[in-house]
Amino acid sequence: MTITIALSKGRIFEETLPLLAAAGITPLEDPESSRKLILPTNRDDVRLIIVRATDVPTYVQYGAADIGVAGKDVLNEHGGEGLYQPLDLNIAKCRMMVAVRNDFDYASAVQQGARLRVATKYVRAAREHFASKGVYVDLIKLYGSMELAPLVGLSDAIVDLVSSGGTLKANNLKAVEEISHVSSRLVVNQASLKLKRSAIQPMLDAFAQAVNK
Ligand code: ADP
Ligand code: MG
Repeated sequence: MTITIALSKGRIFEETLPLLAAAGITPLEDPESSRKLILPTNRDDVRLIIVRATDVPTYVQYGAADIGVAGKDVLNEHGGEGLYQPLDLNIAKCRMMVAVRNDFDYASAVQQGARLRVATKYVRAAREHFASKGVYVDLIKLYGSMELAPLVGLSDAIVDLVSSGGTLKANNLKAVEEISHVSSRLVVNQASLKLKRSAIQPMLDAFAQAVNK
């Protein structure tokens, strides 16, 4: 019985390492230097697959991975179908925010009922947010570098993830509204949990204990 864990490179991988260690799992290669997409671990029965952050829920949903780690931002856009989400790992923490150019008066625009153009990777979260405020928006789907959009006139605002605010500042943008707090969650394929419970449950318990420390 092999357990496959889907992770994305970068902060999620780095911040998941201590949790894996708590479950007795150590990757034998570093995804930053290895070109392999399937990484062996110290345990014969556990392997890691390296996928794009937005693809983690899809691999787990279809059972190509048994377990994965994905941000709430990504899970909300995916919808979470077929996924059991037992645990908030409290890692890769940031906030989803509305941001505009420093010289843009967002409050007045909203108050005057202006129709706003909003560029984002998070179309679903943005639609829900502005609908709940009763603000009319035209959403423009982007796949990255959202900060550029208001600077070149593609949009009035962006919805993006912010942690330090350094990227916004470097691009003469300001955050004007918080949409939600984001952290990463463990996701588990529902069939895997039933069929491979004897291997998966101890891992979930070890992760939960490590998170609560
Ligand atoms: P990608 O560039 O493929 O979107 P990232 O490593 O930037 O991958 O983001 C992966 C996940 O990490 C996001 O889905 C989100 O949950 C989280 N994240 C993104 N930006 C930040 C940030 N600035 N601080 C903390 N966590 C973040
Ligand atoms: Mg990024």
